[in-house]
Amino acid sequence: TTSERHHEEALTHIVGGVNSPSRSYKAVGGGSPTVMARAKGAYFYDVDGNKYIDYLAAYGPIITGHAHPHITKALTTAAENGLLYGTPTEHEIKFAKMLKEAIPSMDKVRFTNSGTEAVMTTIRVARAYTGRTKMMKFAGCYHGHSDLVLVAAGSGPATLGTPDSAGVPKTIAEEVITVPFNDPAAFKEAMDLWGSEIAGILVEPIVGNFGMVEPNPGFLETVHTLAKEHGVLIIYDEVITAFRFHYGAASTLLGLKPDLTALGKIIGGGLPIGAYGGKKEVMDQVAPNGPAYQAGTMAGNPASIQTGIACLELLSQPGVYEELDRLGKRLEEGILESAKKHHVTITINRIKGALSIYFTGVNVENYDQAEASDGEMFAKFFRLMLDQGINLAPSKYEAWFVTTAHTDEDIDVTLQAVDRAFEQMNE
Ligand code: PMP
Repeated sequence: TTSERHHEEALTHIVGGVNSPSRSYKAVGGGSPTVMARAKGAYFYDVDGNKYIDYLAAYGPIITGHAHPHITKALTTAAENGLLYGTPTEHEIKFAKMLKEAIPSMDKVRFTNSGTEAVMTTIRVARAYTGRTKMMKFAGCYHGHSDLVLVAAGSGPATLGTPDSAGVPKTIAEEVITVPFNDPAAFKEAMDLWGSEIAGILVEPIVGNFGMVEPNPGFLETVHTLAKEHGVLIIYDEVITAFRFHYGAASTLLGLKPDLTALGKIIGGGLPIGAYGGKKEVMDQVAPNGPAYQAGTMAGNPASIQTGIACLELLSQPGVYEELDRLGKRLEEGILESAKKHHVTITINRIKGALSIYFTGVNVENYDQAEASDGEMFAKFFRLMLDQGINLAPSKYEAWFVTTAHTDEDIDVTLQAVDRAFEQMNE
């Protein structure tokens, strides 16, 4: 196929043939990733002329569907007025205000170019503010690819990190304490041991990186209480979750107030972006106000800011999240019905339009349970879906994202494909 030829050529020029490892088909048995030529609404068109219903949504940002005219127009206008200034603009003020209104825990914000940069800087700010070095995170949660957060998900109750990636110094990994999500006892134990040395805790308030996993009732409240007792800052990594379930952050849904919040993905409307924000006294650590340095040639560029504004304008319309929820629920119910019919064991975690399917019989509340999902079953499922024109992320952990462009007919077609896939998986 043209896809295969393209991938072959890509392999000689681009490392692994992909510009982000998650795009390779390594986790689903290898081979050439489908090379896409065009995307519009809920659909992808590959270089061989095949059409797909897309649930990857570019790993989350494309919540209003591909090439939404309102976002395209914002980008065109931005381009016509100059793509990059290196000076302040009016748009970034407007956007900062929009974000602050939607996420009340942020008194001040700063724009970056990616979620990685946003999280990386919150770590620096937390360290600057507390004068401490150690950080804490939850096992299996991804916070971008900066050194400190590429630390192995230990499966013990509380572990000092070992590097997850070559090139991450052991000394850096050792500054990171990893605890299981949804385990208040392990969290308390770790805080008793290291609480006074920890600058900040990175929290995906609703986990998006081993599928969608909600905090059990009371868990995050415990995290907040103990963190406060020990003078540890709470950093919500809402790169996936912000504007995913309602017009705002997950923190608001949960009724909790982090000290810092990292954003990305949806808030760029498809262009590169990140942002972080929080309490005034914490944010005032950042240069030029304070001693913690962070900068960026492309940061706050007019294009990303204006596509971001356009995307949030679309999401602020009434009924958007109810509709994502309705379609997500249809998917969940239909998939469960087919699974039952064909005796395929699955668990679905769903929040509004984001759902993950685990090939396991247990509830998934933490990384170990997600990890138990059968990778071979997923690989089979992934291929059978792709063959029927349904594009999913090639990873057993990644959620399906319904977008505002998906229709009931798309859901019908998808559910028929799921039914056939499950039928064949059990042959
Ligand atoms: N944090 C979370 C929770 C993420 O899911 C991601 C990306 N998947 C990041 C940070 C990093 O964002 P980016 O890829 O934009 O650097």
